[in-house]
Amino acid sequence: MDDYIIRATAAGMKIRAFAISSKNMVECARAHHNSSPVVTAALGRLLSAGAMMGVMMKGEKDVLTLQMKGDGPAGTLTVTADSKGNVKGFAQNPIVIIPPNYAGKLDVGAAIGYGELIVIKDLGMKEPYVSQTPLGTSEVAEDLTYYFARSEQTPSSVALGVLMSRDNTVKQAGGFIIQLMPGTDDEIIDKLEKKLETVTSVTDMMERGMGPEEILEDVLGEFGLEIIDKQPTAFKCGCSKQHIARALIAMGRKELQAIIDDGEPIEVKCQFCNTAYTYSIDEVKILLENAILKSAAAKLRLNTDLCGSDEQQE
Ligand code: ZN
Repeated sequence: MDDYIIRATAAGMKIRAFAISSKNMVECARAHHNSSPVVTAALGRLLSAGAMMGVMMKGEKDVLTLQMKGDGPAGTLTVTADSKGNVKGFAQNPIVIIPPNYAGKLDVGAAIGYGELIVIKDLGMKEPYVSQTPLGTSEVAEDLTYYFARSEQTPSSVALGVLMSRDNTVKQAGGFIIQLMPGTDDEIIDKLEKKLETVTSVTDMMERGMGPEEILEDVLGEFGLEIIDKQPTAFKCGCSKQHIARALIAMGRKELQAIIDDGEPIEVKCQFCNTAYTYSIDEVKILLENAILKSAAAKLRLNTDLCGSDEQQE
């Protein structure tokens, strides 16, 4: 079955909730990056959360970026999502082999390490919204819970899980985000906290055959759960040879000239999906022409800007 996200409310709109099934998405990421199990779990949790947080955005062109910058062996994890359920992501080091944690589970916290969580929301305004919060356990869900409390002032419960098969493919993946809206009665909060304490793990629930609807029904059923929307979600990278060419042009004239001088075609991989694109020397020459034009245009713009600031000073 394809992955999807459901959106729901409970307790007369005082609680809002999102739940996701993301097995195919995470397996797709694993296959693209050929990641080891602990990195698949780490990236899979962040992708699942990113997809749910993406659909929380309202604008068609809104873009969310989540970055976990830790000092662990996996390096930085980057996930980008849109508001339509499309998500992509990568780990700096996709292959990390470390022992399991004290509970015998994949040690996501150790793979990511200490550092910070960066959340960037490009909502089509002049400046994107950027938030930086310290990583706590680096197990992903707890770090996002802290982010919601501190940066969005929204008490939330985030649960994320990725279960791997013995052959290192993804067996189950999913999660939920439950949030309290302002002015929720203490009685509801207490009851919800008690209920959440009984939730063991999302992947356990999925192993018992539960999907996003059943998981939210289990947690929020007694609060009058109302499912209001269901939408597909998937790992999707919109890269193309042209798209990557823009990054090559941005490298600058010197670098491009050096490639031409070497005389060998170059291969560039998209970071998000690991797809390789090859550029012949003739193509690189065209890119160099573009880079020259671009820097000429930038110089022109700079001159105009300088004129502008002179005028302001007068
Ligand atoms: Zn790509």
